[in-house]
Amino acid sequence: MTTQAASAPAGERKDLQTTKMMRTVMGNYFAELENGPKQGKKTAWCTSVGPAELLRALGYNVYFPENHGAMLGATRMATDVIPLANARGFSPDICSYLTSDIGAYLKGETPLKKMGMSGMPKADVLVFNTNQCRDVKDWFQFYAREWNVPCIGIHTPRSLGDLDEPIIEDVARQTEALVPTLEKVAGQKLDMGKFKEIVSLSRRCTDLWKGVLEAAAAVPAPITFFDGTIQMGPAVVLRGTQSAIQYYEALVAELKQRVTDGVAAVPGEQFRIYWDGMPVWGKLRDLSTQFMNLKTAVVASTYCNSWIFEDLDPADPFRSMARAYCRLFICRSEDAKEAYMEQMARKYKVNGIIYHDSKTCPNNSNNRYQMPERLDAKLGIPHLVIHGDLNDLRLYSEEQAKTNIQAFVEGFAQK
Ligand code: SF4
Repeated sequence: MTTQAASAPAGERKDLQTTKMMRTVMGNYFAELENGPKQGKKTAWCTSVGPAELLRALGYNVYFPENHGAMLGATRMATDVIPLANARGFSPDICSYLTSDIGAYLKGETPLKKMGMSGMPKADVLVFNTNQCRDVKDWFQFYAREWNVPCIGIHTPRSLGDLDEPIIEDVARQTEALVPTLEKVAGQKLDMGKFKEIVSLSRRCTDLWKGVLEAAAAVPAPITFFDGTIQMGPAVVLRGTQSAIQYYEALVAELKQRVTDGVAAVPGEQFRIYWDGMPVWGKLRDLSTQFMNLKTAVVASTYCNSWIFEDLDPADPFRSMARAYCRLFICRSEDAKEAYMEQMARKYKVNGIIYHDSKTCPNNSNNRYQMPERLDAKLGIPHLVIHGDLNDLRLYSEEQAKTNIQAFVEGFAQK
């Protein structure tokens, strides 16, 4: 059986012009990381939703190892290096960002070399926030032991429903308590004026990134989830800087033009899908091509939206950072997640939801506690669960996933 979507020829994909700026923006970021120590700058490692603004205000170059994890996945180096970390006692069942990053370190190989770096930048301090999972702390502690440097962080409560004041107060105080150690390592005092300015830049970045993702609410969508996983780079590693703002101003303008001109990211778009959970980094291109051929646009995702921090407020940097980083989808209660996904599915007018059950990231796999069934009933749309992993391709059955996706989209056509 073939669907109308599958039988029609796929249209020509038009690349986003702004992406040409990406190499320069990210290249400059990696060059700063590489050259920082020679110029007397300290390097702080930070979890992806850690207190990056505070670190920048103290003059650190900020490095995000999860970005490195994603690069290891996207280049498919991860599957080769994970066993090295396993051999050192890190279970194959835990976060494959962690195991691929540590495996790459042990092997002395990294895709960062292709970005002009000599290797992973050595940390002067490692700063985590457990809002996303415990793995990030265990990950950073490995390097703290290796290099004998401080590993400090914020322990955010998880499964949060309402963001009550005592919780925000506690997380804000924990963030403030990092300052003395960070000042000591940085060799400088925190300048509150600079801190507020960086929170303000971060807020502007977040507003623009939201504009990028919300462009996909248009029919046809001018951008997909697969584009988003590439476009999110500056929002993750450069929030709090002017270069991220310039990049997203250009991208938002291009997307607005696309919407005006009716340019579709998936030419001939017929169906729309919400993607929940982690990307399958090593298979982004294959999945993107399959959906393109099925004339189906993956228009929204929990993942890309995780870098929208609308609570950031330069007038109250510590508390607003606490609020923003506690509102993160991954550390919310099942009810809060369900309400969020329901409004996203309606806003983006999706025909169905795909849940990626990522074997080594239970924290960001939302199909395990009846969420799909509850949302099916509320929204009246079907779901599909794909079993795989963010980085470890040995856990992903490509043929099964492809067949199931094809059948899922055929179901829309039959409706
Ligand atoms: S949230 Fe998942 S993918 Fe991210 S660091 Fe934690 S376990 Fe790894």
